[in-house]
Amino acid sequence: MRWTSRIAAAALVALLQACATPPARTPPPAVLSEARPPVTILISIDGFRADYLQRGVTPTLTRLAAQGITGPMRPSFPSKTFPNHWTLVTGMVPDRHGIVGNRMEDAGHPGETFTTASDAPYWWNAAQPIWVAAEQAGIRTGTVFWPGANVAWGSRATRPDHGDYAGGARPHDWLQYNQAVNDTQRVDTVLDWLRRPQANRPRFVTLYFDRVDTVGHAHGPNSPEVTRAAAEVDAQIGTLVDGLAALRQPANLVIVSDHGMSETSDTRVIPLGLPKDSYHLIEAGPFAALDPLPGKEALVESTLLKPHPHMACWRKGEIPARFRYGGNPRIAAIFCLAEPRWMIVEKLPDVPYTRGEHGYDNQSSDMAALFIAAGPAFRHGTVPAFDNVDVTPLLRDLLGLPPRTDMDGDDAPFRALLRPS
Ligand SMILES: [Zn+2]
Repeated sequence: MRWTSRIAAAALVALLQACATPPARTPPPAVLSEARPPVTILISIDGFRADYLQRGVTPTLTRLAAQGITGPMRPSFPSKTFPNHWTLVTGMVPDRHGIVGNRMEDAGHPGETFTTASDAPYWWNAAQPIWVAAEQAGIRTGTVFWPGANVAWGSRATRPDHGDYAGGARPHDWLQYNQAVNDTQRVDTVLDWLRRPQANRPRFVTLYFDRVDTVGHAHGPNSPEVTRAAAEVDAQIGTLVDGLAALRQPANLVIVSDHGMSETSDTRVIPLGLPKDSYHLIEAGPFAALDPLPGKEALVESTLLKPHPHMACWRKGEIPARFRYGGNPRIAAIFCLAEPRWMIVEKLPDVPYTRGEHGYDNQSSDMAALFIAAGPAFRHGTVPAFDNVDVTPLLRDLLGLPPRTDMDGDDAPFRALLRPS
């Protein structure tokens, strides 16, 4: 037996040397002999402003952009995390898909407030995420985090007071979001899924990195800490690309961010200037969303609906059309938007700070989002500026799903740059 295993070991070593770079990551021969269908991997680097690519610290992203396609992508309004991640996987603007903020209320569910921890399906059910469409078409999916991927999408409450729901769909493989799962573990999870036998292997995967956003909030977009975080996430994507190559796994990578980042400071704040007993505040910061309390409508409107330095306010139905925002019942009655770099506050800051924020005008350069797509489906080229509602239609093309006519975007920006499958 010892002899036999020596021969086998020698043969394996020869095989590894013959066809392996790097040898340590070479998969076993059984995997090598299998022709793998491409996997589509949607990667979000939260808060990665488009111009971070020019800092010279992201060799993997720069290489992928040079091989595939890239272009400036506008987030949807408001340029917040949950609204935009839901747009990226539904093809609809927040006004239609219902995730109109990172924090919101719904008159149909009094007393409840949506936060980034909310997974009750009714918040999410207005627009179908692409993993549900893929699963319905027999395409297996897996998500290493994505806002909404932990929700039993489409399910209905049976006993809402107990949080009981019936039906609904999630990705085949999914993980409850936990920031403590580090980036190496996230990449390893994707690669482990792709090592499975073909029948159990996902063909659509999402991968989410929060670090660039977290550091951007804490230190501001112009900080060395953000540059370091961008370099670290780039290295993780490099590990993913290397791992895919070692598995001989063809992959179409679609790498996006949800929004950019704007530098804020204690010297650029706008007090709301309203008596405390006159309004109910949903959210303040880059924008303020609030409802006047009964009897205080005239006071609130006369205070806010007039010109202000660095801020504009509207009734929800009068928000300028280019924002495509204001029709959803979950949007508060009065909406104020600060200029980039400014913050709307209830109370003046008591300590100096330099930080980062997003949520501003989605057409401002500070909010510009990352977009890179590379893999066998893509030619090389650049795309003119486009809206992130076009990403889901592109993903549908990559997965072979038919176009949907009820989305707010389409695949027009990419058509000439896709290779026929
Ligand atoms: Zn974000």
